[in-house]
Amino acid sequence: TQVYNFSSGPAMLPVDVLRRAQHDLCDWNGLGTSVMEISHRSKEFIQVAIDAEQDFRDLLQIPSNYKVLFCHGGGRGQFAGIPLNLLGDKKTADYIDGGYWAHSAVKEAHKYLTPTVFDAKVTVDGLRAIKPMSEWQVSDNSAYLHYCPNETIDGIAIHETPDFGDTVVTADFSSTILSQPLDVSRFGAIYAGAQKNIGPAGLTLVIVREDLLGKAHKSCPSIIDYTVLNDNDSMFNTPPTFAWYLSGLVFKWLKEQGGVAAMDKINQEKADLLYGVIDNSDFYRNDVAPANRSRMNVPFQLADSALDKLFLEESFAAGLHALKGHRVVGGMRASIYNAMPLEGVKALTDFMVNFERRHG
Ligand code: PLP
Repeated sequence: TQVYNFSSGPAMLPVDVLRRAQHDLCDWNGLGTSVMEISHRSKEFIQVAIDAEQDFRDLLQIPSNYKVLFCHGGGRGQFAGIPLNLLGDKKTADYIDGGYWAHSAVKEAHKYLTPTVFDAKVTVDGLRAIKPMSEWQVSDNSAYLHYCPNETIDGIAIHETPDFGDTVVTADFSSTILSQPLDVSRFGAIYAGAQKNIGPAGLTLVIVREDLLGKAHKSCPSIIDYTVLNDNDSMFNTPPTFAWYLSGLVFKWLKEQGGVAAMDKINQEKADLLYGVIDNSDFYRNDVAPANRSRMNVPFQLADSALDKLFLEESFAAGLHALKGHRVVGGMRASIYNAMPLEGVKALTDFMVNFERRHG
């Protein structure tokens, strides 16, 4: 059976990339050893690092006054990294609470400052939504504004592009980076854990405007200090070399697919197909307002939750893996990142229609 993995992360990777990595595991670049086993200071690995950064920059058209850092610590590491690097001599920062992950960032921020929290969650006609950016309140004395454009668990997305003048906007792009074009110049700092749309877990990418460097709190651990990382080409300590290498292969694969513009188109097609089947049925439901629906993570409920177990068993047997919803939401969730082909979503929707026919 062809397997499609709908995991929210660590998530599916492009099969071409995995095949290449499989080959490279025993003999990389004719060295007779794998990329995992060579020094991060070797000229071979440094070339991997340089190429990966350049490809990532090309894909997102990152302006030259932004630094790209390859870090440890995941998305949660940056919940601390953002305040420790960007608070400066301010006492507060604005946090937009739009769901589970934005809220988790608020909780971590409390260790370093008193965040000014704006609850953007709202229910409109029984559907979960996010207040438009024009209603977000930004305080004068704040060091930065933080939000999460794609809530992986809630299946809620903020599709607007921020426009807050001089305010330093920071954002957690862990589950949406590289899925569509992004105007980096609207942000002070962007971060993303790799394990959803980029590569293996263990690597976290940070894009930071260079004038924001040099403000880290004196207690900031060196390994998440943006200035230290930048001064050392992200090799202050041993970086997650294999994850970096594999992410580099994903960037090359993305370029071959036509870059983020091509991904944007296919991701829209995938999401339209899946939401279409959910909306055309009384058997399945998604309770997010259409304007805030995530294109990456699609939670859905069965009208009769007693069928959940059977749905999961049968879908797994049909090669459709990891559809169980997050424990805080329940029901189902299909994560359909860049590496999920349209055929995978078709296989899922065919299964859903068939399951409904048999059990509806
Ligand atoms: N932010 C978002 C949007 C996420 O989806 C996740 C993980 O699922 C995290 C942060 C936490 O990432 P990590 O486990 O890499 O710390």
